[in-house]
Amino acid sequence: MNCMEASPSHVFPCAMSRLTSLLLALFLASPVFSQVRREIAIPDLPGYRTLVCDFHMHTVFSDGTVWPTVRIDEAWRTGLDAIAISDHIEYQPHAGDIPTKHNRPFELCVERAKQHGLDLIRAAEITRGTPPGHFNALFLKDVEALDQNDFLAAVAEANTQGGFVFWNHHDWKGPEKGAWFDVHQKLFEDRLLHGMEVANGGSYYPRAHQWCLDKKLTMFGNSDIHPPDLRRETNPDDHRTATLVFVSKPGVGGIREALVERRTAVWFENQVIGRRELLEPLFEACVSIDPPHHRRDKHIWVRVRNQSVFNLQLTRTAGPGPRQLSLPAESVTLIKLRLAKPEQPVEFRYTVDNFLIAPETSLPVVYTLPGREKR
Ligand SMILES: [Zn+2]
Ligand SMILES: [Zn+2]
Repeated sequence: MNCMEASPSHVFPCAMSRLTSLLLALFLASPVFSQVRREIAIPDLPGYRTLVCDFHMHTVFSDGTVWPTVRIDEAWRTGLDAIAISDHIEYQPHAGDIPTKHNRPFELCVERAKQHGLDLIRAAEITRGTPPGHFNALFLKDVEALDQNDFLAAVAEANTQGGFVFWNHHDWKGPEKGAWFDVHQKLFEDRLLHGMEVANGGSYYPRAHQWCLDKKLTMFGNSDIHPPDLRRETNPDDHRTATLVFVSKPGVGGIREALVERRTAVWFENQVIGRRELLEPLFEACVSIDPPHHRRDKHIWVRVRNQSVFNLQLTRTAGPGPRQLSLPAESVTLIKLRLAKPEQPVEFRYTVDNFLIAPETSLPVVYTLPGREKR
């Protein structure tokens, strides 16, 4: 219609009409969803990018209570980088309403994961009584092929597909829970078992932690979440149990390579659990200490920066410094120190109480403060 023409249905001035049309066009062209993601502040390591991953969760396709795509939205929103949906193969309590289709959770999520830029791994939980227990298989090509009576054959099939198999929540359920049986030894010796959950949801398993160190298995921490994740964002005191994966290349291939090379740590209830050679550089990337910004007599004032999401707790083991040191997440802590000889270098020795390099063993750290330059 010519804007100069008047008509009963065209009562707005011409400019207003154009604006309305533009807004309408923009509205129709806009994405339907607008989601906000809060990133999780965990620094990268030299040569490796740090990914926050959850390799164990359920949907309505086994005993979970959410549709698979909800898992993508939750993970994105709360700052995760990669997930594996691992519905039970042998436990299908919703089968009366939702037919058993082991590959569907992954297939339903592929496009949405791509839209969000989230790495999605095809997976499943091989679910047997204790022993052997429950095992997650990652990087599968066809979950259906794992649905077979013989347990060892199912694990072998996962491996044939290039799968990575880890033992879940080993200390859960039944009088025989927690023990390393012949069947586990066979899986281990046949190189069919590659990792263990050191933490699952609200549980930490020190024995699994030690076995991972002794047997060179990859450490995992996962949520095993069944209901919806109601978090809007991730906080130091309210986060999923997750696996930190240190990757040298992007994508699912990079995650697989890192798992094979055991470059993981477990994030569990504000604790980081892992190998010393990884936790050392991680702590160094999290914490930096500024040169003293003020000196007066024998006192100095320094700022300690914690760039990470972890609320760090340190305990002095030798030398000067406060006995206990709290470094809240993503903040700067001001410390006043009294030095006997300010002109000389001083060594501060602490343990990071919530960085565990073995059961009940905290990461030791040393910081050397240079001496005051003589004028
Ligand atoms: Zn399980
Ligand atoms: Zn599970």
